[in-house]
Amino acid sequence: MALRRGFKSEASDLAEEVRGELGLSRFDRMDPFALARHLAVPVIPLSDLTATCSGAQYFLAVEPGTLSAVTVFEGVRRIVVHNDTHSPARQNSNVTHELAHGLLLHAPAPALDSATGCRDWNADHEEEADWLTGELLVTRPMALAVARGKFSRESAMERLGVSRKMLQWRINATGAAKQAAREADRFS
Ligand SMILES: [Zn+2]
Repeated sequence: MALRRGFKSEASDLAEEVRGELGLSRFDRMDPFALARHLAVPVIPLSDLTATCSGAQYFLAVEPGTLSAVTVFEGVRRIVVHNDTHSPARQNSNVTHELAHGLLLHAPAPALDSATGCRDWNADHEEEADWLTGELLVTRPMALAVARGKFSRESAMERLGVSRKMLQWRINATGAAKQAAREADRFS
């Protein structure tokens, strides 16, 4: 499975544009809740739904790991419901992922396939949304700054509100690790 040709540079441009609209420098934290307000997408914590929806209670109490976030469509309007029992770093990535689908104009798909009852899964869309999530939360220049040792991993995680896993993935996937290693070789 690979992202289609040209997607990464489109995603990078899109992320830069969106972060710019939010007034963020390349080293600033992107708050997905601020992005949601900017996009006029309501974000509802799953715990708010427990009083009215037994399904929500199930996800929170019985299988808290199962549901991260989901986009609900009301006509063309998107609403993001997210699991607010997850760690703040995970919530940031879960909510950004859902908003990324919207930014990429992924068409609404039913969460469940009506014929089989299974989750309808578009692997290409998921991979694209994951990639754009990374671009929005950890820019390549930021990943490079961490790989060069200008920020420690801990301070970058704190600053950006992301998990160690997300940060490390970006450092590797953007080629920042390789670039920093090459530079270190050259100057040693
Ligand atoms: Zn998704």
